[in-house]
Order: sequence, then C-alpha cells, then structure tokens
Amino acid sequence: MAMAEQGGVGEVRIKPDRLHAFTVALCRADGSSAEEAKLVADHLVLANLFGHDSHGVGMMPAYIQNTNTGRCVRNHHAKIIRDNGAVIVIDGGAGYGQVIAKEAMDIGIERAKKHGVCVVGLTNSHHIGRIGHWAEQCARASLVSTHWVNVHGHKSLVAPFGGAEPRFTTNPYCTAVPRKGREPIVLDFATSQVAMGKVRVANNKKVQMDPGLLIDAEGKATTDPGVMYNPPFGAILPFGLHKGGGLAVICDLLAGAVTGGRTHSPRTIKKDGHDIINNMLSIIIDPEAMGGTAFFEDEVETFIQWVKSAKPQPGVAEVLVPGEPERARKLDREKNGVPIDGTTWQQLIDVARKVRLNDTEIPHAASA
Ligand code: NAD
Repeated sequence: MAMAEQGGVGEVRIKPDRLHAFTVALCRADGSSAEEAKLVADHLVLANLFGHDSHGVGMMPAYIQNTNTGRCVRNHHAKIIRDNGAVIVIDGGAGYGQVIAKEAMDIGIERAKKHGVCVVGLTNSHHIGRIGHWAEQCARASLVSTHWVNVHGHKSLVAPFGGAEPRFTTNPYCTAVPRKGREPIVLDFATSQVAMGKVRVANNKKVQMDPGLLIDAEGKATTDPGVMYNPPFGAILPFGLHKGGGLAVICDLLAGAVTGGRTHSPRTIKKDGHDIINNMLSIIIDPEAMGGTAFFEDEVETFIQWVKSAKPQPGVAEVLVPGEPERARKLDREKNGVPIDGTTWQQLIDVARKVRLNDTEIPHAASA
C-alpha cells in the first residue's frame, strides 16, 4: 500500500485516502454495513486530518473490542423516544456514535429549520468522537449549535476543581457558528487539561508530561502519565481552575441529567471501565428565527474581522479564531500524510489481524 514519507522514530505517515480505505475495511471485516463503515471512517480520518489524533483512527482497536463484547452495537440506528416537536430525545442503543449522532443531528436540523430551534437530547450512544463533527454538520445547514457532552460506563478520569480523586471524564463542550461563504467558527474542546489520548501516548513513549496537567493519588502535582494506568490512580485536572472545573460539572448535568441519559456516577461506571457511552445535549438554532440571517451574517463577519485585527502578541504570527488551527493542519496533512505513532500503528495492525482482514488490505510500514 502506498504511503507517504516516514515521520519520526516508529511513526508512519499515511495518505488520508489510504487511511480511510483501511478504516472502512476494518469496520466491514468486523461486520459493519458499508454505510456504517463509511461514516466511521469519514469521522475518524477527519479527526486525524484536523490534528485530533486522540479521536482519530487510533480509536478503532477500542471500538472493535467493544463491538465484540456487545458494548458497541453494530448497524444500529437512532430512535426517537420522546417527541415534543422542538424538543426531542433520542436513544442511541449503544450503536456506533458516528451513525447515531449523524442521524440525531439530521433530525435536529430538520426540526430547527421548522421551529427555529431544536433541543436534542442524545442518550446512550457509543462514543461520538470529535464533537466538532456534529456542530459542523449543523453549520453546513446554516444553523448555530451548541453541544454539551458527558461520558459514562468508562472509569473516572478527571478530578473536580479542588478534588484529589477523579469524578467524571473529559466531558467535551462545543459551539459552532456558520459564516457566509467561509468555514464556520468551531470551538470544540475537552474540559480536562489534556485529552486522555495524549496521556496514553506519553505513557506508551515513557515520557513525562508538562506540569499542571495531572495529580497523583494524594492530589499532589505530577508529570508522570503512569498515574493514570497504575494503581494507586491519580487524575487529570480540569482546565481553567474553577471555571473549567465548573463547565465540566455542567456538561455532566446537561448531557447526563437533563436529557434523560445518565450522569457519570457509581450507578453507571462499569467494573472493567471499557464502556464509552456518550450523552449529548444539543441546542440547534436557526439565526433566521432570531435577528434574521442577513443581520446575523453581517454581524458575525464584522465581529470576527475585528477580533482578528488585534495586534498579535510577540511570537504569535496571527490571531486565529476557533476552527482555524484545525483547517491549517488539515491542509498540511492532506499534502504530507497523517502521522501515526508506532504504538498506535501496531495496535491497528493487531486489530486488522484479529478481524481477519485480507492481507492485501493491511498497510505495513515496510512498504512506505
Ligand atoms: P484542544 O485543546 O486542541 O482545543 C481545540 C479548540 O481550541 C478548537 O476549537 C481549536 O480551534 C481551538 N484553538 C486551538 N488553538 C487555537 C488558537 N491558537 N487560536 C484560536 N483557537 C484555537 O482540544 P482538546 O481538548 O484536546 O479536544 C480534542 C477533541 O477531543 C475535541 O474534538 C473534542 O470534541 C474531543 N473529545 C471528545 C470526547 C468524547 O467523549 N466524545 C471527550 C473529550 C474530547
């Protein structure tokens, strides 16, 4: 299989279309329909292209582990379980998040166009990945959307502000604002200081992390990623002190309690901690129903240009708005290939063998 040039030690670089075909083949060999395999591959490869490798194709071994244990249900579809027109609740039935969330947003978009707004409670979906993907789906329909997400089933990872023990996971928050004739503003982040995928990579490489990200089991600051893997376990800190810590709590309350889904608590944490169930509260708004589309588009452009006109700080090339760094990374990776660290690549090869993928469909670094 053709691949782009080799990167750092143990790292491979793969052309996005090759990575996409490999991901489709993995899902198909594992029993997903062609449509499901495509949605999963579209999502994961785009996360890699945007530079969010923690939510890219490296998730496939965990997904296939979960399909094999029934924690992720293949070929399942979103089901509306409460319908109040502009307020709907969807049960994901632990189906692939890339299918369930897409279908949930399709319904939410249709309703928001009709009512001016739609509040979607998406419950009980398997991992829905990069939340920006769902906000971008709404933005393509010229709708503003905001999304609050929690995780349950999985073991706790993130300490509350002031806490020495984890009580929830990396609870992401996302808002996207469409722009006329331009790519949308997309603010999309975990409410933890760092994504768990980055801790995993540091632990695999046996390198220390930056200060201020982790605490040990006694609540003391540490740079050792091993505290997340070896007992006695430590925790990741929330970002932004009491503000980020507060946002993380709100994510669990909105996504897990308001929607009828479930919060992260001893009632939902599974013993082995491998479940990755996401709930999401999405509010999808049609600007036409508020200040009007023409007004909205003009105000967005005026404000964004004003923000970007700020003189950059020393060492900063340009003031960027949310979403711009990802798109710059995408241009680079489309040209130079997607870098995948050696450990992740080996895990992908291992899972390909496990699902008995045809050898010709398994890329290997030697052919780079
Ligand atoms: P991050 O810390 O890289 O922050 C990304 C956000 O900050 C983006 O909106 C980006 O455009 C913006 N940004 C970054 N640099 C900027 C700059 N210089 N100027 C302006 N804006 C800038 O993101 P993260 O916390 O590592 O999250 C990574 C991904 O993980 C997200 O897509 C998130 O949705 C996903 N996630 C998903 C789950 C889940 O359960 N499904 C859990 C946690 C995280």
